[in-house]
Amino acid sequence: MPHPLLVGNWKMHGSRSMVADLLAALKLGSAGLKGIDVAVCPPFPYLSDAASLLAGSSVYLGAQDVAVHESGAFTGEVSAPMLRDVGCRYVIVGHSERRSLFGEDCALVARKFRAATAQGLIPILCVGEQLAERAADDTETVLATQIDAVLELCGDSALARAVIAYEPVWAIGTGRVATPEQAQAVHRFIRGRVSRAGDTPTLLYGGSVKPQNAAGLFAQPDVDGGLIGGASLAADQFLSICKAAISQ
Ligand code: PEP
Repeated sequence: MPHPLLVGNWKMHGSRSMVADLLAALKLGSAGLKGIDVAVCPPFPYLSDAASLLAGSSVYLGAQDVAVHESGAFTGEVSAPMLRDVGCRYVIVGHSERRSLFGEDCALVARKFRAATAQGLIPILCVGEQLAERAADDTETVLATQIDAVLELCGDSALARAVIAYEPVWAIGTGRVATPEQAQAVHRFIRGRVSRAGDTPTLLYGGSVKPQNAAGLFAQPDVDGGLIGGASLAADQFLSICKAAISQ
């Protein structure tokens, strides 16, 4: 079983002072947490500040998106070498907000995945179905399409040790969390799709994880941690979710 991993996706929230306060609290609160990995993904402008503020702690740094190109005339883009340069270990690719609000399709997400791994970043590949797709019993088909795009571009073993976040779109920011049984069923499907003997992909659940529902989700055998949005903006809530992963 992979080491549990808890990742905070701050989305487009924060300010320099908020970042300083939140990371000071996380640094203090995470000092005693053993047996799990913790990471935060602030907005791009705060990555350098965050890297300095996290120095000496065990909290890793991640970004929320990455360009497919390494450098060049691509106004507004941020490349994988830049993310490495400022101290990132992880980068989220294919978050449902990027897919639905910014038109990122599976082919583009796969290219971002490849750009990240080429620089030694660990991509956190987000996959998930819309509510209507679940209602139509299409969840596995949708996830297979999202996953296979990466396997086709990056090779059969690309996800063997990757991080995949199952985030049902209907659960993100809605307060409507998947049940532990729903999460487990999908995670088992994903593990079966990407794993061969000896492979250890880390499978995160994301979508309205809160301190009160985290333990039930993390107790599932194929749930290896969480990608946490709203609750990662409050240190006490995020730390309490992290603790729920330790006690499983
Ligand atoms: C997310 O956006 O990745 C997420 C899981 O958000 P929330 O926890 O707020 O649902």
